[in-house]
Amino acid sequence: MKPVIALVGRPNVGKSTLFNRLTKTRDAIVADFAGLTRDRHYGNGKLGPHEYIVIDTGGFEPDAVTGIYKEMARQTRQAVAESDVVIFVVDARAGISAQDYDIANYLRKLGKPTVLAANKAEGLPEGTQVSEFFELGLGEMLAVSASHGQGMRMLVDLALAPL
Ligand code: GDP
Ligand code: MG
Repeated sequence: MKPVIALVGRPNVGKSTLFNRLTKTRDAIVADFAGLTRDRHYGNGKLGPHEYIVIDTGGFEPDAVTGIYKEMARQTRQAVAESDVVIFVVDARAGISAQDYDIANYLRKLGKPTVLAANKAEGLPEGTQVSEFFELGLGEMLAVSASHGQGMRMLVDLALAPL
């Protein structure tokens, strides 16, 4: 069975762009993913020696009547439960937001292996790309640019190497 990577993060950080980078088949055939629930977006990926399945969580709806916690918990819990490792995507340009703290706390409690991807890092000074996100108290961090395809191989290495 291929390892499953869940992409988690607040809206607009670039999860879907990253999903498209990490997968070849954008609209994956559900039959490939027997045993996984079907209301999220799955894709097959292969990068270097790694073959994996990626789950793109739809993003959270901050304005939902149910509130961010419920929606976040629902989307994230399901995707994370199905995954072997989480890539927590944050926006290196926007910096840390309150939602990032909420998500980081949530992931820490779950204890699932998590790699932080500081996305949109293209062109930012190297020293500043990830330093702010140490604050979130998660493990490995990497500056990437999903739209420019930077750091993709290293991100997958980092996520899958310990498995
Ligand atoms: P999602 O809501 O987390 O799925 O985010 P999307 O993948 O839909 O991307 C949100 C916006 O960020 C879009 O306008 C993307 O083009 C942009 N974006 C995604 N990745 C990058 C990146 O690496 N650099 C920059 N500058 N913009 C990006
Ligand atoms: Mg999206």
